[in-house]
Amino acid sequence: MKNIDIQTLISEYPLVKRLINLDDVTWFNPAITTLEEGLPYVGLNAGNVKDAEDRLNRFAPYLCQAFPETQVTNGIIESEVVSLPNMQKTLEQRYGVNIAGKVLLKKDSHLPISGSIKARGGIYEVLTHAEKLAIQAGLLTEQEDYSKLFSDAFRTFFSQYSIAVGSTGNLGMSIGIMSAKLGFSVSVHMSADAREWKKQKLRSHGVNVVEYEQDYGVAVEQGRKEAESDPNCFFIDDENSQTLFLGYSVAGQRLKKQFSEMKITVDDTHPLFVYLPCGVGGGPGGVAFGLKLAFGDNVHCIFAEPTHSPCMLLGVHTGLHDHVSVQDIGIDNITAADGLAVGRASGFVGRAMERLLDGYYTLSDQEMYDLLGLLNRDEGIKLEPSALAGMVGPSRISANTEYLQRMNLTPEKMEQATHLVWATGGGMVPQEEMAKYLATAKI
Ligand SMILES: *Cc1c(COP(=O)(O)O)cnc(C)c1O
Repeated sequence: MKNIDIQTLISEYPLVKRLINLDDVTWFNPAITTLEEGLPYVGLNAGNVKDAEDRLNRFAPYLCQAFPETQVTNGIIESEVVSLPNMQKTLEQRYGVNIAGKVLLKKDSHLPISGSIKARGGIYEVLTHAEKLAIQAGLLTEQEDYSKLFSDAFRTFFSQYSIAVGSTGNLGMSIGIMSAKLGFSVSVHMSADAREWKKQKLRSHGVNVVEYEQDYGVAVEQGRKEAESDPNCFFIDDENSQTLFLGYSVAGQRLKKQFSEMKITVDDTHPLFVYLPCGVGGGPGGVAFGLKLAFGDNVHCIFAEPTHSPCMLLGVHTGLHDHVSVQDIGIDNITAADGLAVGRASGFVGRAMERLLDGYYTLSDQEMYDLLGLLNRDEGIKLEPSALAGMVGPSRISANTEYLQRMNLTPEKMEQATHLVWATGGGMVPQEEMAKYLATAKI
């Protein structure tokens, strides 16, 4: 990889200077295309998403048995959408802008099994691998009732195989808990910023937790190396996995169904804005892909990152993608936002999705904490800091007349807009930890 010359980069992309200064940056993508034009670059299509949906449906009877908390949704791992009437007013006051339309929250924070958005992609990839092994061994067919996997016989079968993953915490939780439940031997390689309680929870599920003094990139590399030396070990590659991406993408059709049940219209005169916290990119990228397929050009996806870890904004804006890291431009990649402390974005996701994303912005850790406190005060909803990254999105959009005009998002349309803040985690944060988060909020 060639050296990055910061001065050249700044002269070509002045916005990089503002990233280095850790300013709050908002960048709307001038090269956005229609879904039709952008789709071929993704390399995946609606058929692949349908495949993932079908696979998750096959596993639903198993999940009902293995995780009784999923029985209420018949073994489908899905979250609620709620409205935030009080928070919307608070946001308007805090940022001094009128937010036309309605602000809603997608509570992936409260997804069953692992309490974060990773319960979509992470679990899906483990299930995909398990299904493949069982079918290859002649122990399962797609037509059978998958609840048979919830048995000692299958646990013994899967115990011959192992799974490894590198994680800042939440991906490890999903993959660790799911893999251990099926019977796999599973190692989670955790970066220095991973929380102690997450490590403890994983160990209590029988997961082998390997700790590192370094950041996420190193944890992933070590996990990959360990897996390479063992042919029975499957490494889950958060940076490049299309399977993870597809697991997330299922959210699109599911949201469409939820919206129709809630009588929420999305069409040319009722735009939908979705604000997604971004780490390496697979989660928000996969969800955004599913949303584009479900709602077409009427959905506008915006990625949110910490000022200390703006890897996707940096990679897409400069076109360097995974050939540049935030450390290359002197940013430390230290943030309290679990899951977002990623210095180098997924090259796959950036290249696949850059034409289909409306914009990217950054916000400070303190802003996330303050919003965490405000959301708890106004709506009684408790999230982890990273899950608040999307919360400033509605004000950033509403304040940017250049973007709104360019996209022909007229005031009339904006009055009928839906702003969906994707809450990505927090449902399993222990009470003492949550008390610390709340105490950090200056409200
Ligand atoms: C992982 C994670 C994200 C972002 O997902 P990526 O796939 O890393 O971009 C956002 N929020 C939380 C809480 C996460 O755990």
